[in-house]
Amino acid sequence: MIFFQKYKFFITTLTLLIVVTISFAVYYGYVQVQEKKIRQNEYIKRAQQIQKKVANAIVLKEKATLAIALALMNQKDFQYSMLKKAIPANYFDPIIKQFRQNTLYKNIWIQVMDKRGKSLYKSWTKKHGENRTKLREEIATIQRKKKILNIVSVGQYDLSIKGMIPIMSGRRMLGIFEVISHFNSIAKNFKEDGFESVVLATKEQSKHIKYPFTRLFIGEYYVANFNAAKNLRDLLGKYGVENIVKKPYSIIDGYFIVPYFIKNSNKKVIGYDFIFQKLSALSNRELEHFTFKWMILGLVLFSLLGALVNTTLYFFMRKQKIYYKNIIDTSKNIIIINDKKKILEINKTFFKYFQNYKTLEAFREQNVCVCNFFVKEEGYLDQGDVSYYWLDVILKNPETKYKVKMDIDNNIYYFSVSAVLIDSEKDYYSVVFSDITQEEIYKNELQKSVITDPLTALHNRRYYYEKIEKEMYEAKRYGLALSIIMTDIDFFKKVNDTHGHDVGDEVLKVYSKLLQESLRESDIICRIGGEEFIIILPHTDKEHAFKIAEKLRKLVQKSKKILPITMSFGVTEYINGESEDYIFKRVDEALYKAKEQGRNRVEVG
Ligand code: GH3
Ligand code: MG
Ligand code: MG
Repeated sequence: MIFFQKYKFFITTLTLLIVVTISFAVYYGYVQVQEKKIRQNEYIKRAQQIQKKVANAIVLKEKATLAIALALMNQKDFQYSMLKKAIPANYFDPIIKQFRQNTLYKNIWIQVMDKRGKSLYKSWTKKHGENRTKLREEIATIQRKKKILNIVSVGQYDLSIKGMIPIMSGRRMLGIFEVISHFNSIAKNFKEDGFESVVLATKEQSKHIKYPFTRLFIGEYYVANFNAAKNLRDLLGKYGVENIVKKPYSIIDGYFIVPYFIKNSNKKVIGYDFIFQKLSALSNRELEHFTFKWMILGLVLFSLLGALVNTTLYFFMRKQKIYYKNIIDTSKNIIIINDKKKILEINKTFFKYFQNYKTLEAFREQNVCVCNFFVKEEGYLDQGDVSYYWLDVILKNPETKYKVKMDIDNNIYYFSVSAVLIDSEKDYYSVVFSDITQEEIYKNELQKSVITDPLTALHNRRYYYEKIEKEMYEAKRYGLALSIIMTDIDFFKKVNDTHGHDVGDEVLKVYSKLLQESLRESDIICRIGGEEFIIILPHTDKEHAFKIAEKLRKLVQKSKKILPITMSFGVTEYINGESEDYIFKRVDEALYKAKEQGRNRVEVG
């Protein structure tokens, strides 16, 4: 539970991220699968369309071929020649030429056979006479059925389309008239529609072709169309005809390939017409529509999800922020969140001290930094010359306890300050000011009383010892002159005895003040005994110190405040390396000497 609390934000964010990622993955996967399905269906549909188109084209060509056969065979001259069994060579050449020039039939072949199937005439060769009945199943069919036959078949020369008509005289069959056309023109028509074709005879059929019309082969497969592009022939060779005919369609090297099975009169597969279409030319409306639809839907869905995540995080953060704000507001300390340039956040307590401001913005309008209120004083942190220098000082010395003195609208406050980095990325710090005003005032007073003489308000003997030690150290370290003066009121006992102790006290007060006021600010006067004083004179040699003592002596003598009194003075200069006790002893002796020599005088020791 504690673990959860601590990492609540992290866990929430992570959970949301995981949810979004999984949703996206599922969504993406679904769209992919659907897309693939649609694409496959579309391809299958397209393959079927292409196959139908090829079938139609072949049927069309068969019918046209037959029509030509019927027209030619029914010429009177031909009937006559046929009966004579002597068809002159080149007999059909003029009409074939006319076909070539005026129609789509660029390569029409004509053959005439007798009733046994023996060739009597071939338009494309002078050779004839042989009987092909055994090799060509359809010849036997026509002999048996005596009916028109319209087929695709493989002969010695080619895989071709044939229109075969029995030549009849009454019920008697005289022979067979045959018109042969090729696959080139079909392929050409397809090409005009953006489809390339390669027409092949099966391996088995290719074996029968003795005089290959096109002279083209792919391995053992005879290529039946002249215009079969080389790259496509190579492609079939590379991927294997066997592999491509296995599938309703294939996608290879940027081509959509559909095989069509060419069958003979007995429904036996004797060849293939491969139709190639550039994949880039395929437009898939349904798929485009699908993708568009799902993309838009996805966009909307994930935008919504994103907005949801954002809002959740926003409220989470706000809650968290309010939560922390509440915590820092309940603190009695001033808490400030800032980077090293400006204050970002403050708690309620802040305004208890800075009452002139109602909001953080109002404060920021007039102040760059809370440190503008720091009072420069020994023992307290100073705002420094560089912006936010003070913060650096605190951060660099985490062990040290820092205090600041602040003057807020003429109210003096003391605070202890601590600072911690709360966000390293953003350089955010939390600075806490704890009010220690009461303690500091008490402590300062106590401190002062410890070193102050209550009667004269001068520093006391304790302070003298603190100070002389410091000054001797400085003098020794820097080779500076240092002198001290010891002074004692002459016949003070008599003052007390004559005027009473209270008057004696007043005398002490008044003359203390006189002495202090006559000294430089750097000189330190301490009351070290009843009516005895020591003056520390930094940076002063004994000649100079003597002059000061002499000046004081005269001042006291002349003053005559309350009572006329005199004072005796001992002067001495610090000897490098000597102890505090020794210098004291020496100055005491100088004073003693002054007393001995008649008082109201200065002796140098
Ligand atoms: P001398 O010139 O030799 O210094 O003579 P003296 O009378 O000053 O002698 P001494 O130093 O022995 O006497 C100091 C007297 O100062 C003793 C004491 O009654 C008086 N005295 C010390 N402290 C106080 C004080 O706080 N108030 C008053 N009224 N008198 C004090
Ligand atoms: Mg005295
Ligand atoms: Mg004395």
